[in-house]
Amino acid sequence: MSTLNKTIQMIDMKESYSSIQEEVEAAVLNSLRSGKYILGPNVTSFEQELAKYLDCKHVISCANGTDALIISLLALGIKPGDEVITVSFSFFATAEAIALVGAKPVFVDVNEDDFNIDVSKIEEKITDKTKAIIPVHLYGQPCEIDKVTEIAKKHNLYVVEDAAQAIGAKYKNKCVGTFGEFGTTSFYPTKNLGAFGDGGALFTNNDDLAEKAKMIRVHGSKERYIHEVIGFNSRLDDIQAAILRVKLKYLSKWNEERAAVAKRYNELLSSNSNVITPICKPDRSHIYHQYTIVVENRDEVYQKLREKGVGSIIYYPIPIHKQKSLNDNSDLPVTDLLSGKILSLPMYPELKEEDQKYICDSLTL
Ligand SMILES: *Cc1c(COP(=O)(O)O)cnc(C)c1O
Repeated sequence: MSTLNKTIQMIDMKESYSSIQEEVEAAVLNSLRSGKYILGPNVTSFEQELAKYLDCKHVISCANGTDALIISLLALGIKPGDEVITVSFSFFATAEAIALVGAKPVFVDVNEDDFNIDVSKIEEKITDKTKAIIPVHLYGQPCEIDKVTEIAKKHNLYVVEDAAQAIGAKYKNKCVGTFGEFGTTSFYPTKNLGAFGDGGALFTNNDDLAEKAKMIRVHGSKERYIHEVIGFNSRLDDIQAAILRVKLKYLSKWNEERAAVAKRYNELLSSNSNVITPICKPDRSHIYHQYTIVVENRDEVYQKLREKGVGSIIYYPIPIHKQKSLNDNSDLPVTDLLSGKILSLPMYPELKEEDQKYICDSLTL
């Protein structure tokens, strides 16, 4: 092991940028010179290109991934008094969106092996107030979405897939985000398809829902100054769309490179009995938004990596149901257990093998 300390960041945004710098800068200049800045021509083109990529009828861009969830719920008519089933083992925004439209998030536990919703525990949480299910494709791995949509159909519920971490990941050869009434994603800079500011989008194959969502993102209006429903302002900038159009062309390549980085981690860590490496379940592709391991002495390992100059992050240290703002007393043993043991290691397409070796050496206590 090298005695020299390195610095390896969780994600190297600058290095990722350098590979596409010229193309991005030209696209931004074009947008600046076009004189059209909000929902401009790049936004329309990006929506069409992303729809084609996902093989989905409609893509509606908006200001961020949280808004995409809120717009979906509003378009589906979710209102105060309704219940929406989701997971507590996710980023806070998933449940926050439900609470913001006045509904109650109802939490289901996750599987210990893939961190995603435990479909065998959904039905016991369904009541006569339940209107929708929001499964999350966490860390870039599709959840058991077939089963989720099957349960939803049986009980007459909507499905909104939170694909903020899984854009381009496939379940049985079909992109996630296209199974439910809506799929949503985020273009936050560190996501697999990230803008250089905030951005988000919703996907749907339903023409009526697409029209509703489009109205909600611009003050409930189809025609200027005619407001048919109550909406809000949640639009994508033309500059961000211009950048996303460039980056979309590389998304598949980057997702494959992330999978290759993950494979190397799996090999390097195979002899470390203290570490459980992530699995990819059958019938799906994993795009490794995060490479997340499970370790017994997580806090010690985290400290040790820090001392060695390696960035790692705990996604997420406090499960959503335990947050003060929600004060929910659901019994979610797997969620509680995992949040004390998970650790995400540096992950980005350009991560070098020698750096991965250093990270894995540093993981040995
Ligand atoms: C990032 C993220 C969001 C929210 O996206 P923003 O663009 O930051 O609003 C929602 N859900 C999950 C699972 C996320 O990772």
